[in-house]
Amino acid sequence: MALWFSESASSGHRLQWKINRMLYSGQSRFQSIEVLETESFGPSLVLDGIMQTTSGDHFIYHEMLARVPLSVHPHPSRVLIIGGGDGGLAREVLLSSQVSQVTLVEIDPMVVEVAKEFLPQHAQAFDDPRLNIIYADGLDYLGQNSLAPYDLILVDSTDPEGSGPGNSLYTSTFHERVYNALAEDGLYIQQTGTPTYNPEVLRQTSLSISNTFPVCRVFWCVVPTYPGGLFTFTSGSKRYDLMRFTPQATSDTRWYTAATHQAAFALPPMVAQLLPDSVRLAQSREPH
Ligand code: SAM
Repeated sequence: MALWFSESASSGHRLQWKINRMLYSGQSRFQSIEVLETESFGPSLVLDGIMQTTSGDHFIYHEMLARVPLSVHPHPSRVLIIGGGDGGLAREVLLSSQVSQVTLVEIDPMVVEVAKEFLPQHAQAFDDPRLNIIYADGLDYLGQNSLAPYDLILVDSTDPEGSGPGNSLYTSTFHERVYNALAEDGLYIQQTGTPTYNPEVLRQTSLSISNTFPVCRVFWCVVPTYPGGLFTFTSGSKRYDLMRFTPQATSDTRWYTAATHQAAFALPPMVAQLLPDSVRLAQSREPH
């Protein structure tokens, strides 16, 4: 009898993954943690019953969240990642020789330990000497006044759902702290989920970021294991426009290219209608 993991996208839509083995199941102070050996996507991380990242398609999300800012910022040396305890985003960022140090602020140490043991594709970066892991709430961490400015701040957190720890990262207070922690030409990007099922996350987050930063942009990709596939990221920038970028060699990517970078800012009306007028107008112009 086959075993299936099921996640509800809505009351009328479920996603299911066939499971060959349950690699890990536990409960931390913050959430339930499972690693499933899925037939189609390999070892996959589930937090509080929500699929977070899979060995089979994580590269799409991590390439877009890392390569888009890295191809825009002229000197992305100091990078802060908030969340990302599976290690996949840190791995992608550290492929860049321009990056001198990555600080990863993850609230749940158990996620890192589980990723090291069961998610080998994600966990390669944990041995990189440029990586420093801090176990804290991202909102609290940015509340410190002694932080040296970051060139990039990337939020790879769980969704702001229920009583989960991700909620504190989708507030205007958090976005103001991000602004203050960034260098004068710093770039910020946050995952803003699947607009098909959670349009309010994108609507409210893009409004808060556009109220905090002079430049706000939204871009998308397709992640098969996220509900509806369509997945968005919202950025805040003190100077650079993510739609203007320097194409980079992409021989080591399977999703990100100069063409998919440009295409990612062409928004379908169902997404554009969720955004503040200034963002929608800026992104409705012809690509640069
Ligand atoms: N790629 C996934 C996505 O887009 O849904 C996210 C994966 S990553 C495992 C999410 C991480 O964010 C989790 O390890 C969780 O513990 C962490 N996290 C959630 N809220 C946080 C907070 N307030 N501060 C720091 N880390 C947080």
